[in-house]
This record gives sequence, structure tokens and C-alpha cells, in this order.
Amino acid sequence: MFTGRVVEEIIATLLIISSVKEDNMVWEEEMNECYSVKSGYNLAMRCIVRSDRHHERLCRGCLSTRVRLTQRYVECELSCHVCNVEVEDDIHVFFGCVAARECRSVAGLSQLLQNAAYQHGTVADRVFGMCRNEDSATIGRVTSLFWCIWHNRNEKIWNDNIPSPSQVGRMTFVVWNKWFTVHQLQRHNVVPVEDPRPVRWKKSRVGCIKCNVDVAFVVGSGVTSMGLCFRDTNGQFVAGLT
Ligand SMILES: [Zn+2]
Repeated sequence: MFTGRVVEEIIATLLIISSVKEDNMVWEEEMNECYSVKSGYNLAMRCIVRSDRHHERLCRGCLSTRVRLTQRYVECELSCHVCNVEVEDDIHVFFGCVAARECRSVAGLSQLLQNAAYQHGTVADRVFGMCRNEDSATIGRVTSLFWCIWHNRNEKIWNDNIPSPSQVGRMTFVVWNKWFTVHQLQRHNVVPVEDPRPVRWKKSRVGCIKCNVDVAFVVGSGVTSMGLCFRDTNGQFVAGLT
């Protein structure tokens, strides 16, 4: 278990309590000092979350909610940035806030996140509970949703931009799809090839209107859609058509 040098150092360490005469097996994750699968699992999950590969600030209790900022002696109000009704802690941001509830509804995750099994303990407890019971695709969608909720909260704080719940719901799908695609490519050792040519929209010549067109053909359904956008010499929007 240990190298020879470490064993020597352990044996050479003086015991503080003189009454201790014999070595004892102790599992410090339980009050009764006996190992249990549950506490072993929780310890393993904490180690995974703390490792460099899985820097999840939410489960490490490091997200800068107002409650946490106050605990760190930052002077600020405690009420939620978004709803201004309740105290802004981790649970409120991801479970209780009206914005979080609307976003999870659009993302199709209300039923899961309202499940009675995930209404107790810290956010980390709830997330680990879901990790134990749900499949990885569902966990991926929840993670994407939480990321989007936090991202949009910051959008409001720093840019005074308040995306609608339906925008956040759509963004959750986009984030999850991107993550899933990259993950699949990595699993099959496929390196995504990026086009080396930078594609940039350019303004039209003086006196001209530029029209950009995009068309979609949906195979099998017979549906075709089209969008047109007209901009002037300064790049200002003139007209649109779908
Ligand atoms: Zn709120």
C-alpha cells in the first residue's frame, strides 16, 4: 500500500494520545467509523468532482451566489438578482427561482427536477442523486440546463440582458447537442476539421442593398423553408422575409 520510506515515516510519527496502543481500522466518513457503500460512493464522487478533469463549481460549493458572496464578506444584498423575492443561494438559483422553473419547463426537465427524490439536501446531494438514478443523456441535459441558467443569470448581471425562458430552453438543447457531438467524435477518435478560411459577413458596396438567403429542405416531409435578410451599406437591417 505504501512505499518503504513512507512506512518508516508513518512508524516514526509520535502518537499524540498515549492511550492508543494498537492500530485500528477507521472509516472517517461515517459517525460510527464503519465503512458503508453509500459513504464510499459519496467520497468517490467528491474526489471525482475535486479532480482537475471535473471542475464543477456548483458541486464544489464555489458558485458566487449572493449568499456565498456575503459569507465571503462581500457587501451585497441577499435577494435574488432575477426574481428579487427570495434569498439567492444555490438551491434557489437552480431549483426554486421562478426563472429556473420556467427554463426547466421549456427544456422538458420539469418532471425530473420536481421528482420528490431530488428535493432534499444541497445541490450537490441532488445532482449526485440524479447521477445514481438517471442515464447519462438525462444527466447531460440537466448539466446543460444548469450551465445555461447560470450563464443567463450572469448575462443579466453584467449585460442587463434578460433572455426569455424559451431562449434558455432552446440554448439548453444547443449546448447539449454540441457537447454530445464533440464527445461522440472524441470517443471515435475523430478530430473535427475546421475550415481554415475565416468566414465573415461583409457590407455591400455604397448604394447597394445586400440580401443573404438561407434555404432548408426537409427530406420526406416535402417542406421547404427560406429566410431572406436585407441590409444597407452600413450593415443596418432593412427588411426580412421568411
Ligand atoms: Zn429568484
